[in-house]
Amino acid sequence: MSTQGTETTATVAPPRAALPLVTIVGRPNVGKSTLFNRVIGERRSIVGDEPGITRDRIYGEAEWQGRRFAVVDTGGIVPDDDAIIPANILKQAATAISEAVALVWVVDVRAGKTPLDEELARLLRGTGKPVLIAANKADATRLEADAGEFYQFGFDEVVAVSAEHGDGVGDLLDALVTHFDEQAEVVDTETAPREIRLAIIGRPNVGKSSLLNRLLGAERAIVSPVAGTTRDTVDTLLEWPEEIAGATPTDATQDPNALQGEGTALEVAERVVHRFRLIDTAGIRRKGKTEEMTEKLSVVMARRSLERADVAVVVIDATEGVAALDANIAGYAVEAGCSIIIAVNKWDAVPDKETGTPAAFERDLRDKMKFLDYAPVVFISALTGQRVPRILPLAVRANAARSLRISTSQLNDFFARAIAAPRAPTAPAPVKGGRSRLRVQYVTQVGTRPPRFVVFTAGGKGGLHFSYERYLQNRLRETYDFFATPIRIIERHKRERRK
Ligand code: GDP
Ligand code: GDP
Repeated sequence: MSTQGTETTATVAPPRAALPLVTIVGRPNVGKSTLFNRVIGERRSIVGDEPGITRDRIYGEAEWQGRRFAVVDTGGIVPDDDAIIPANILKQAATAISEAVALVWVVDVRAGKTPLDEELARLLRGTGKPVLIAANKADATRLEADAGEFYQFGFDEVVAVSAEHGDGVGDLLDALVTHFDEQAEVVDTETAPREIRLAIIGRPNVGKSSLLNRLLGAERAIVSPVAGTTRDTVDTLLEWPEEIAGATPTDATQDPNALQGEGTALEVAERVVHRFRLIDTAGIRRKGKTEEMTEKLSVVMARRSLERADVAVVVIDATEGVAALDANIAGYAVEAGCSIIIAVNKWDAVPDKETGTPAAFERDLRDKMKFLDYAPVVFISALTGQRVPRILPLAVRANAARSLRISTSQLNDFFARAIAAPRAPTAPAPVKGGRSRLRVQYVTQVGTRPPRFVVFTAGGKGGLHFSYERYLQNRLRETYDFFATPIRIIERHKRERRK
C-alpha cells in the first residue's frame, strides 16, 4: 500500500520557485503511487540519475517537453481508511489541491465507475481546477476502450494509461503540460526537445542510403551516431535548424537563396531546432548478398525500424513505378501506426518529363496504394538533392499531427455537426443495409501517436460497417489536421438492457 502511518500528517514541500504543481488524487488502490513513481521516473530517465536526491514518496519533480513541474501524490497524505470517504481526500490534501494548476485523478478501468468515484467527481468539480482523468490499469486495447466511459464525468481529458507498464503516460503528460503553458519556466528546449523518430524504408535499390546521405549531409545539420536499441543497430541523431522567416523586408544584399518573392529578402525571425533520430542508419546502408535476400532483408528492416518510428519515409523508385512490394512495405508502416511520407526518388532519371508527369505518376501511385490517400507525396532526387529539403519539414508537420488531441467538447461539437444531425445525406449507415437498430452515440479520443478514437454504439448488434468507419475518418480529416497520419477507430458497443 502506498500509505505509511507516519506520513499522514506530512506537509507538502512547497514547490521551489513556483514550479507548477500537479496533484494526483483518487481512491485507494487505483495506482496513484505507481503513476507518481512513473512520472518522476520519466524525468530521471531524461536528466539522469542524481544519487543525492532521495525519492520522497509524496513530493517529486518532473520534466516533460522541457517543462519542469512538481508532483504530489495524495495517496501519501491521506490514509487509506480515510480515503474511503471522498470528502476526506479533499480535506487532508487541501493544500496540495488548492495550490495545484491541474489535478490528475486516477481511476481504475478494471473496476469501472464506482459510487466512490461519482462522489469524488462531484467534489473535484467543486475545486474549479482542471481535472485530467488517468484511466489506469488499461493494460490492453480492450481496456483502453473502456476508458471512454469516464468521459461521462464531464471533465475534459481522459487518458488511458498503464502506470505499471508506462503506456499512455506520455499522452497524459502531453495533455498535462498544456495546463501550465504560461506558468512553467521553459527549460532549455534547445537541448531537450522530444526527438522525431524517422524511418527510411523501401525496396532494395530505390535509393534509401542515398537519401540518408543527403539528409545527413544537409547544410547546417548536426549529426551524431548513437546506439540503437540492440547491439547491432546504430541510429543517427540529426539536429536540423528550421529558420522561420519573419516579415521584415530588408535590402537584398543577403544570400540570394533567402530571397522570397520579388526583390524582398526575408529576415530570419526565429530558429527552431528540430531533433530527429534516424532509425538504424547502419541497417539502411547494409546490403544483402543476393537479390532475393536483399528483398527479404528490406522487409525485415522496414518492420523492425517501424516499431520504433514516428514517421516513415517510404521511398519508391520513379524509374520503376509502384511495385507490389512498395505497397506491402507502406502497409506495414500503416499497421505500425506511423505517419507516412512517400518519397518518389530518382525523379532526375525519369525521361521526357512534362507538366503532367508528376500528376500521372501520383494517380497511378494513389490507385495502387488506396489505403494511403492521406500521405503526402514528394518527387525527389537523392542524387541531385532536388526537393530533398522538403522532407524534414513534412516530417515535423506529420509528427505534430499525430500528437494532436481533440478535446471532448470539441469532439462533441464535431459529432453533432458532422455526424449525428440530421444524418448527413452522404453518410452511410453504421451497418450495411441500414436495417439494424445500431446507433452511434458519441465519439471520444482515447489516445495519440497515432490518434485513436472510440465510437460508442448502442442498440442492435455491434459491428460498424467499414464504409462508416471510412466516412468517420474522412470527416475527422476534413475538420482536423491529421496530416500524413493514420487514424484508428475502435468501436465500443453497448447492448441495450431489456426492461
Ligand atoms: P494507490 O493506492 O492508488 O497509490 O495505488 P498503488 O500505486 O499502490 O497501486 C495499487 C495496486 O494496483 C498495486 O498492486 C499496483 O501494482 C497495481 N497497479 C498500479 N498500476 C497498474 C497498472 O497500470 N496495471 C495493473 N494491472 N495494475 C496496476
Ligand atoms: P538502397 O538500396 O535503397 O539503399 O539504394 P541506394 O541508395 O544504394 O541506391 C541504389 C542505386 O540507385 C545506386 O546506384 C544509386 O546511385 C542510385 N540512385 C539513388 N538515388 C538516385 C537518384 O535520385 N537518381 C538516380 N538517377 N539514381 C539514384
